[in-house]
Amino acid sequence: MRQRLAELRGPDVPPQPLDARALAALAANPGCRRRAVLDGAGVPKAALAQSLGSPSGFGQSQFAFMRGHAFEARVKSDGGAELLRLTHACLGGGPEPEPGSAQVPDLSAAGPRGRAGRTEIALREATAAGAWTLLDHPMLALDVAGTPAFLEPDAVVVAPDGTWTVVEIKSFPMIDGAADAAKVGAAARQSAVYVLALDDVAARMAADGERAPEVRRHALLVCPKDFSNLPAASAVDVRKQCAVTRRQLSRLTRVEDIAATLPPGLTFDVARPADELSAAVDAVPATYAPECLAACELAFHCREQARARGELTALGRSLRADLGSLTTIEETLAAARGDAGDPDDPAVAALRRAGALRAEALAGGARCP
Ligand code: SF4
Repeated sequence: MRQRLAELRGPDVPPQPLDARALAALAANPGCRRRAVLDGAGVPKAALAQSLGSPSGFGQSQFAFMRGHAFEARVKSDGGAELLRLTHACLGGGPEPEPGSAQVPDLSAAGPRGRAGRTEIALREATAAGAWTLLDHPMLALDVAGTPAFLEPDAVVVAPDGTWTVVEIKSFPMIDGAADAAKVGAAARQSAVYVLALDDVAARMAADGERAPEVRRHALLVCPKDFSNLPAASAVDVRKQCAVTRRQLSRLTRVEDIAATLPPGLTFDVARPADELSAAVDAVPATYAPECLAACELAFHCREQARARGELTALGRSLRADLGSLTTIEETLAAARGDAGDPDDPAVAALRRAGALRAEALAGGARCP
């Protein structure tokens, strides 16, 4: 089956490794078989979108990138004193950290595997020492369908009470203690991936009879406060995201089942002509939703398809859920006109009522107060 996945990717295309963002996006749209098979086969989706003629709008501007880096450096300056203070203020973890007293171990090593090994040693040592420790850009490994994915959170804080906290430092603002809900949701899904990778390290420590840490189910989100460059933090509950991502990862092993249903010879090789690639991509069912625009490189292609088919999900998942058995805009409008649909279906009945009220209002003419 590995050979089939390699064929799907294309003979000369190296597999695209899964990173935390890709794994988090799987959790954002768990029902999408198209994304599951493309990620499982390691297809470079940004290059695929380009070949399809619908390049993704992903990527930060150079300005935003530099601003993000400067903010992160500021948050971690002075041996992470401010970051540890924020961690303690939001989540506790033992006595308040004294400025300059925290450990910041050197995590450098050759290659991602070496860095992941070095991070694990540092986590074990910090937990045994019971001292405030900042792991700056540690490397974590997570088994994904039998292959390790290497992940690099912004930081992990080890507290004296043996708790480990994932830290995400973002450049979007936190205004009056609250940040944009969609961006916080994306950060939570990404943090959940790191939490799962830390769970694996904790399980190995427990198996070795070492002091078992507690991997917190709250990540620390650090953002600029009210458009300044001062840091503000909040604890984000990632329990739900952990459960969804764990379930998605276990389903990823079924990618091979999806691949087995595809016609022989089908390939997503980005070197193929656009019409051939489009037919190959369209052979795998997708579940497009506007959320894809912030999470998947194929979003513009899938949106075009969903709109062309008049799919209700193109207008949002909640609307699709509200309309029950109706799946297209055409069906919905026909139901509202009373031309189609089961009148006993509550969604159809509500649409007919709304359609009748609209017709009544239009017949009566609009009156201004
Ligand atoms: S953009 Fe397309 S492939 Fe990506 S998750 Fe959405 S529906 Fe699936």
